[in-house]
Amino acid sequence: MRKPKTKLCLPVEQVKVLALTDHDTMAGVSEAMEAARKFNIKVIPGVEISTVYSAREETEIEEPVHILAYYGSCGPARYEELDRVLVAIREGRYLRAREMLIKLSELKMPLEWEHVVKIAGNGVAPGRLHVAQALVEAGYVENLKQAFSRYLYDGGPAYAKGNEPFAEVVVQLICRTGGVAALAHPWALKNPLTIIKSLKAAGLHAIEVYRSDGKLAGFSDLADTYGLVKLGGSDYHGRRGDDEPDLGCVDLPVFDVYDFLKLARSIWYDAMKGMLLNFAEKPVHVNIDELLRFGKLNDDTISECSPSLLDNEENAAAEFEAIRLKLSHIMLNISGLQMSVMSG
Ligand SMILES: [Zn+2]
Repeated sequence: MRKPKTKLCLPVEQVKVLALTDHDTMAGVSEAMEAARKFNIKVIPGVEISTVYSAREETEIEEPVHILAYYGSCGPARYEELDRVLVAIREGRYLRAREMLIKLSELKMPLEWEHVVKIAGNGVAPGRLHVAQALVEAGYVENLKQAFSRYLYDGGPAYAKGNEPFAEVVVQLICRTGGVAALAHPWALKNPLTIIKSLKAAGLHAIEVYRSDGKLAGFSDLADTYGLVKLGGSDYHGRRGDDEPDLGCVDLPVFDVYDFLKLARSIWYDAMKGMLLNFAEKPVHVNIDELLRFGKLNDDTISECSPSLLDNEENAAAEFEAIRLKLSHIMLNISGLQMSVMSG
């Protein structure tokens, strides 16, 4: 499930957990989490990262790959490291959009840069979709589909390469920052098998297998073969009128959700433990910011990483109790207010 502030195809009362995975930014996460609290919905902070896969031996295999990252409620550990990569991708997208416009004007279809930026919206880096929208609005093509099939397809006359990071590097980055790494919409790949194999070697945890029209048996088998958790997404990308599914339109079987949570909790638990210990050892602002980025740190945060789903229950519980004890002694001065970071 993607983008905030767009329609959900389920009534809001039926949504319990929503993973927000916008493209190359986590900018909408805080706002979504804040809004979700009112509806008693849990938002999993996430991001869909644009990468490129390039096989070292076979240079002709190079294709865009989208990797999803799902984080615990405190967000990524080492947020700055992740953010640097996301910023570089977004800046690369501006350069890429400019290059597409240059190519289009050489094809006698000039577009106004300001207009494309306006279509993309507030602070969003323009992508192919926004350029396509501008082509429709200028009357050069009839619809978005035509904009892609004539000019903007991979390698097309107005196509420009981005400078996205390598897919394996991003999978490793997600693992390092305490996230669950999943391959998004593998059915869109030309070389899914090669890519799944090498991403699994890099640490990939999961793969999208379900979409709005049901389960894809071939990818489900691949998930079994490579020991990957099966996920699903509506693959909503905002291509209005392009026969794409609505946001939130995917049926995910309960046992797959359970598999995901079981895996995710142990990863998130480790990440949060690291962040809490970091802070307990060095109670300075940068370390508290890390914990408070996407919400408040409280007992819920800890119980959410409930050790009940972990293998070594007692050990895990004792470990957290020790951290809790350490933290209860720390008093912080946040905006002039003396507060105990964790009470109780
Ligand atoms: Zn995608």
